[in-house]
Amino acid sequence: MKLRTKLWLLLVLSAAMSMVLFGYTSVWIGKAANKGYALFQLNPLAQSIVDSIQEQPKLEIDVLQRTLDRAHADHPALRFVWLDDRGHSVYDTAGLNPTFTFSDLAMLMQNMPKSYLTADHISIITPATKGGQSYFLLLSVPASEMKQGEMYFLIRTLKSLLTLVVPLILSFSIPFLLALWFFSAVNKRIRKLNKALNQLNIQDHSPVAELIDSSKDELGQLTQHYNSMAHRIRNQFAQIQQFENKRKLLLSNLSHDLRTPLTTMLGYAEMIRTGNYQDQQELQARAKIILQRCRYMDKLLDQMLDISRQDADGLAIHPEDHNVSELVRKIAAEYILILDGDELLFDVEIPDEDIYLSIDAPLMERALRNLLDNAIRYGKDGQYLGIRLTADERSVAVIVKDKGKGIPPEHQAQIFERFYRVDSGRKGEGLGIGLAIVKDIAEAHQGSIEMNSTPNVETVFRITLPRNISTL
Ligand code: ADP
Repeated sequence: MKLRTKLWLLLVLSAAMSMVLFGYTSVWIGKAANKGYALFQLNPLAQSIVDSIQEQPKLEIDVLQRTLDRAHADHPALRFVWLDDRGHSVYDTAGLNPTFTFSDLAMLMQNMPKSYLTADHISIITPATKGGQSYFLLLSVPASEMKQGEMYFLIRTLKSLLTLVVPLILSFSIPFLLALWFFSAVNKRIRKLNKALNQLNIQDHSPVAELIDSSKDELGQLTQHYNSMAHRIRNQFAQIQQFENKRKLLLSNLSHDLRTPLTTMLGYAEMIRTGNYQDQQELQARAKIILQRCRYMDKLLDQMLDISRQDADGLAIHPEDHNVSELVRKIAAEYILILDGDELLFDVEIPDEDIYLSIDAPLMERALRNLLDNAIRYGKDGQYLGIRLTADERSVAVIVKDKGKGIPPEHQAQIFERFYRVDSGRKGEGLGIGLAIVKDIAEAHQGSIEMNSTPNVETVFRITLPRNISTL
């Protein structure tokens, strides 16, 4: 059932129920809390006394006295006076036997409605005839013995019924109509939100249509939340898609990057097996190439492992006190050997004194190797490779510099992102995660990495590590 139908049913039912409830409770509470005589009870009482006296064959004083005394005994709060047609009291249950003039009686009759509301006593005069003579029964009640409130619905015609029922219905329906109006407005806003949620398509690339609801109530807040949620979902979906594209590219690069060296290696290994080489020097050269390719493949597989490991649980480091000067010296020596024979100036600057720092040495070595490999791979044209270690009392920095083609300014902001490569179409050069790994390693040591590159002039990568890594 729709909310709107539910509300209508609820309103109609509750209006009917409240009217019935109103009638019943007012009668019940009136009966319980409103004790006393009602005017409509007194008239029949007086008339019944008059009737019983009139039924007597003769008006005898003792019969009259007995009748009135019995009535008084039944209703001790009431006073009964039997008057003759000249206003003389024949019998008074109060024993005062007053005499009333015609004008006294007329005034009592005339003032009755008024005295009902204001006077101390209320008097009702009921005429009687007996033996051709006129009498009056005067019934008098103290106002305190009357009910404190009375309501009479005297419904004789449909018109008089309408005069009562129409205002009653109107007064009952106004709150319901207001509630209905309020609910309809709320319902409209909910439907708008519902429709928007239903139509939200995360794959749609057009901008998200903003829902406008300027009110500050819960629905207004919900609409705001919807707007920001829709934006967030779209952005996240776009990011996921981007990531997915990068993953696909990564896989195709990886399969290419693994196959190419493998083909070369197979060829050279076959050549060595069949002895198809001229001299020992050629054999050495081929073996060196096979070794290089193996190293490259080993590195690729390492990086693949890094990707899956970091996806699973981030980068965990195990720092210990290490001589950083020694570590950098060792790596520099290795690279001097690797670059042996290349036309390249290798500039190494390491302070003589030992610099001790709490680091995860294998990870740090890896970071440094990534930077050096990149400098050789992308910056060889500059024929310069620099490695420098500096330290002051607060930090230690390792700097790798080359003078090759560098990184164009428009790529510099994203260069540390995973899978980002300047020339993403070109295969056989890497997966685009080397620098992201260096950054992760530096940050895991509470340090940082910076890059400055002026294409074809110089490209500098600088890892800065704090001296005191307290909370590792
Ligand atoms: P990969 O080398 O596997 O592609 P990296 O994260 O190590 O991934 O490097 C990202 C990109 O940054 C490289 O593709 C390359 O274009 C660029 N780059 C990195 N180092 C240098 C450098 N020294 N000179 C020029 N370009 C560089």
